[in-house]
Parts: sequence; structure tokens; C-alpha cells
Amino acid sequence: MARIVQKFGGTSVGSIERIRHVAGRVKAEVDRGNEVAVVVSAMAGETDRLVGLCQSMAPFHDAREFDSIVSTGEQVSTGLLAMALQDMGVPARSWLGWQIPVETDEVHGRARIVAIAPDELRRRLADGEVAVVAGFQGLTPRNRIATLGRGGSDTSAVALAAALAADRCDIYTDVDGVYTADPRIVRAARKLAKVTYEEMLEMASLGAKVLQTRSVELAMKQRVRVQVLSSFSGAPGTYVVDEDEIVEQEIVSGIAYSRDEAKITVLEVPDRPGIAAAVFGPLADHEINVDMIVQNVSEDGRATDMTFTVTRGDLDRAVGLLEDRRSALGFRALVPDADVVKVSVIGVGMRSHAGVAKRMFSALSENGINIQVISTSEIKISVLVAEKYLELAVRALHTAYGLDADG
Ligand code: ADP
Ligand code: ASP
Ligand code: MG
Repeated sequence: MARIVQKFGGTSVGSIERIRHVAGRVKAEVDRGNEVAVVVSAMAGETDRLVGLCQSMAPFHDAREFDSIVSTGEQVSTGLLAMALQDMGVPARSWLGWQIPVETDEVHGRARIVAIAPDELRRRLADGEVAVVAGFQGLTPRNRIATLGRGGSDTSAVALAAALAADRCDIYTDVDGVYTADPRIVRAARKLAKVTYEEMLEMASLGAKVLQTRSVELAMKQRVRVQVLSSFSGAPGTYVVDEDEIVEQEIVSGIAYSRDEAKITVLEVPDRPGIAAAVFGPLADHEINVDMIVQNVSEDGRATDMTFTVTRGDLDRAVGLLEDRRSALGFRALVPDADVVKVSVIGVGMRSHAGVAKRMFSALSENGINIQVISTSEIKISVLVAEKYLELAVRALHTAYGLDADG
């Protein structure tokens, strides 16, 4: 007997029929004699609809009310799945975050889970009752509902698996595993049988939304065994594992992209100590994350240009904050550009192989794609390119690193 957490995403619970299908998958696990807790997302499109309602009501809204509203999608899907299970003769009940409780911090809209009380759930699982738990939500110390950021049900599932000391956390979605690139963009993408926690973490944080970044962080820290698989087919999925479980490691295991990027160039900032702190300090104070940064040395030691990226949603605010400080900072002008995307190649094999960057730059240049900004870490290289090149760049890199199926 095993204790299993299953998570079903929005598409998987997108209709009454699909929820019935999911109930069948849950029942199959129960019939194998396992204890099962299920985490579900809102029905497909529902969270977007709720976000839209909030934006129409008030563009600058109270983040606590926003969370109270956008978390309701999961209340519906958990209830429906519990009903479907009961209909099949499987004892089940729904659980909202506050009922367990799933305790979070107070960062509304992207809260972190702090603790999950496991005792009552464990007792009921042992009695054969399936727990159908609402993903994406929890309760703050002030007794308010908080949400975990888009895609947060993955994190709910991994956190629940850790709290219940589950043997496995199966993430069911609309693709049958983690691929070498988003299969919706690269038709030749290959399914990975295994991927390391580290690579999955980079892929997720660089834009592959198949798992929320925090869910991978948490799985890595708590040693949760995560599998990504399809809720529609019976195909084996992808296991997220430790590096030593992978026998033959490719140099590059995946390509990721993110459209949520915007670039700001600060022209002619004085080249003196403290200028970077003066530019980036106010952004950090306003919770604006800066990602890629390039700055050149000035020839005459006086002024230089500085380019950096933020998320698209933060672009206007970042520009406003810097414009307000233009005379103190002493720059000539700001050039914002939201027409950019980030494309990254990821692989733990990069640590021990030279020439990975060269291959990336050659492949992009052969396709006439100009690189605007470059950043690297031990196991990834990212470039910023014009948005119109996104698909071309991802496909060209996929081919260049020999990742294409039948290639
Ligand atoms: P869910 O609603 O089940 O949480 P998501 O839409 O959040 O599903 O995540 C699944 C999607 O992630 C897929 O439909 C796919 O387009 C996208 N995706 C991006 N990169 C990858 C990748 N490398 N492997 C698999 N899927 C990916
Ligand atoms: N329903 C939430 C969202 O759409 C959480 C999730 O699907 O993981 O972001
Ligand atoms: Mg998701």
C-alpha cells in the first residue's frame, strides 16, 4: 500500500465529463489499495475569468479581496470531483485551504505555504476516504485567504505530498510529461523519461510552465518524488529525480522560453561607484524583480549605457520610478521595449563541456536572429531576442543541440 498525492490541472477538470474521467483515475488508485489525496485546479479558463472580473471592477484592487475571488474556482472543482467520486461509490470529501488549514505567509497573490496540518487528513485517508483538496489557496496568519501565484496548484500538491509523507506526487496535465521543449511550439520535441530537480527548476523558472517553479524548489528540498504525466493517456510520464539517477546525461536537456519579459535601456548613466545601487535600489524597494543586466565600461570613464529586464507587468512602473529619479541619477534617456522574449538552453552537462554557448550563438546567427542580452549560470544560457523570432529561435536551438526526435 502506498500513499499518493495526485494533482489534476485545469484542462484535466475542464468539464463535467472530464471530472468524471478524473474520478475514474482516482478510483483506480484507490482500488489498488492506496491512500489517495487529490489536489485540483479550477476548471480551465475559470481563474482567468475571475482575474478579469477583478480587473474590470477596479484596476488597483485590494490584493486580499482579489485572492478571495480568484480562489473560488477551486472550490467548485473540488466539490464536483468529490461528488463524482461519491457517485462511483468512493468515499470522498472536499477540503478548502482554510479547512485543513494550509497556512501561508501574507504575500497575497503569490503567497508561500508555511505549513500544512496533516493529522486529520491522515486519519481519514487511513479510513479509506479520499481527500479532494483545493489547490492554489491557503490561509494567512490574519485569517485571510491567500493564493499562491498562477500555476500554484502544483505547489499545493508537492507541499501536501511532503506534509503527508506521501510515496509519490503525480502531476496529471494535458501533456504526457516534460519534453525537451514546449511540445506546442516544437513538434519534434522529445519526452524525457527523467529530468533532474536542478534542470527542472531552471526550465520552470525560465518559462516552461508545465510545473510551477516553487513546486520544483519544494520537491527538491523535501525530496518529494514527482512524476508528470497525462490525465488523458496511459503513457508513462517523466520523473523528476536526483542527478545520480540519470545514467546518460545529455549536455543540453531542454530549451525554454518566456514571453513575460521587457527590456529597459538607460542611456548615458554616469559611470561611477554606486550607480547600479542607485538604479536598482528603488526597483527592489518596490518589489520589482530585475533579471538580466548588462552594462559596459565607458571609454572615457564618464557615462555608459545600462540595459536590464523586468517582467512585462512591471515595465511601466519601473520606467516611472526611474523617470522620477532622472535628475538624481543623471541619465540622458530611457528606452523601454516590451517586444522581447527570453530563450534559454538548460543542461547539467554544461558544467563539464565547453562550446555550448558557441553552438547557441552560431545557431541563432545562422537564422539571422540578433541577440540583445546574454546571461549565463552554471547550467543554463539565456538570450534576449525580438519576440517575432521566438518560435524560430526555439526550434533552431532544439535542432542545433541534437534534441529533435528522429533527428
Ligand atoms: P495544468 O493546467 O495541468 O497545470 P499547464 O498549462 O500549467 O497545465 O502546463 C502544461 C503545459 O506546459 C503544456 O500544455 C505545455 O504547452 C507547457 N509546456 C511548456 N514547456 C513544456 C515542456 N518542456 N514540457 C512539457 N510541457 C511544457
Ligand atoms: N487555477 C490556478 C491558475 O490558473 C492554479 C493552477 O491552475 O495551478 O493559475
Ligand atoms: Mg499548471
